[in-house]
Amino acid sequence: MKKYSLWLDHILEEKEPILKEDIDCDVLIIGGGMTGISTAYHLKNSNLKIVVVEKNQIGRGVSARTTGKITYLQDTIYSDLTDIYSETTARKYFYSQKDAIEIIRNIIENENIKCDLKKVTSYIFSKKKENLNKEGELLEQFGVSIKEKKQNENYAIGVENTYVFHPVKYIQALKQICKKKGIKFYEHTDINFIRTENNKYICGNELVKIKAKKVVCASHYPYFLFPFLIPLKCTLEKSYISAMPVKKIESYSAINIEKPIISLRYHQEKENYLIYLTGSHSLYTEYDDQKHFDELKRHLKGLKMEPKYLWSNHDIMTFDKLPFIGLLKKDLYIATGYNTWGMTNSNLAGKIISDMIMDIYNPYELLFSPNRKLKKLSLPKTIYGGIKPMIENKLWKNKNWYSENVYFEKRNGKNIAIYVDSLKKKHIVYNTCPHLKCSLLFNPVEKTWDCPCHGSRFNLDGKVIIGPSNYDITYRE
Ligand SMILES: Cc1cc2nc3c(=O)[nH]c(=O)nc-3n(C[C@H](O)[C@H](O)[C@H](O)COP(=O)(O)OP(=O)(O)OC[C@H]3O[C@@H](n4cnc5c(N)ncnc54)[C@H](O)[C@@H]3O)c2cc1C
Repeated sequence: MKKYSLWLDHILEEKEPILKEDIDCDVLIIGGGMTGISTAYHLKNSNLKIVVVEKNQIGRGVSARTTGKITYLQDTIYSDLTDIYSETTARKYFYSQKDAIEIIRNIIENENIKCDLKKVTSYIFSKKKENLNKEGELLEQFGVSIKEKKQNENYAIGVENTYVFHPVKYIQALKQICKKKGIKFYEHTDINFIRTENNKYICGNELVKIKAKKVVCASHYPYFLFPFLIPLKCTLEKSYISAMPVKKIESYSAINIEKPIISLRYHQEKENYLIYLTGSHSLYTEYDDQKHFDELKRHLKGLKMEPKYLWSNHDIMTFDKLPFIGLLKKDLYIATGYNTWGMTNSNLAGKIISDMIMDIYNPYELLFSPNRKLKKLSLPKTIYGGIKPMIENKLWKNKNWYSENVYFEKRNGKNIAIYVDSLKKKHIVYNTCPHLKCSLLFNPVEKTWDCPCHGSRFNLDGKVIIGPSNYDITYRE
């Protein structure tokens, strides 16, 4: 069994250079995930000098661990937005997602991108028919024709003209197109400071500086605390995913609207796969990854299936269910908080931000503005969420959270964690997240060190693989 995402297997290993000297550009894009690449793509004909910097490898972050559905049927988003804001807001969001699907479909068609795009029917399902009524009614008011279905004890409503694809193949293809247009990509180059000087941004790390007129922060979770204070505005949700070989693929994707979440889709490559997700939880409420992977395997056993791939992933959830996309402050743009619907929203973000940079009117600028007055902000929840795991872990070090082969020490006053692998090799790391100093948990399935507060992830030897941390935790004598 492979303990990493299906999307990371059998893909081209394309390396980009590390930035080794100071440079100038018009637009600096920080982060080479779906958001960063999509923004670069939409700016490719702008005559602006565009640079994309990625702290790891392009397209290997959260976007490479998604389920890869491209759909506007997203849980009960339209009922939720109607409750939080108004039906008008829900309708605007609906149009934005329909537009995003068109953007992706047109790009794939016009650029002839081979990324396994497949048209499917998307379903949401529930054991209680009445729980689907409001979402169905709203969609019908928006002009969508709904399909109804009953399977075993589940009721479902479905919509047509939605898709699934291979996210990493899509990102790699967009990158190639951008490179042909002169956009520069740098990998293993992180940005850990941004400051202004003479009306320009100076961004960089200990080794290099990039001077830019405009900066787009497409780093999933903004690594800087100010000015956005994202730990106070969002929570994180983690899920456990598997891919299993199946004889036949079906032309639908589905997600239930109650917990425990089950989300599924099919994928056809050399083999046919069912991709199946469950166990979603708020990052700070549960810490035992092994338990969740075991639960996922139990689900699959019930379906008489054996996973070939197992992985986990987390996304950023906003309280008002709308992403933050747009201008944060003068010439600094941000795109985050996709609430697990980032395939449409990251592509939309690319279009909105590039339109803003090129002074083109975009109808969704206000809807997603990061500076909008938040309707539903729960400060106690976010503060508690950010601090709870830190306190629990530091004060009560609950040994049940860790695998058997992990133990802890203090060396030179620093907290150290040691994992002993099957060959008795010791992997030693600092057990404190460089981001906001939370203690890290060991994920015994994927063999990573994961931060329960804000989602940073590190490999066995302490190299950061997912932010917001910009620094490794590798122990050095
Ligand atoms: C379990 C799960 C399933 C999902 N399924 C779906 C789905 O079916 N459909 C859907 O629409 N959405 C889905 N999503 C949501 C979607 O995957 C994400 O919202 C989206 O991929 C986020 O894209 P991104 O570009 O913002 O982030 P990323 O892909 O993580 O890209 C950010 C990049 O920035 C880099 N970076 C970070 N900090 C720095 C720095 N300081 N300097 C330089 N580079 C930096 C990172 O290394 C990374 O490569 C799912 C999410 C989860 C958790």
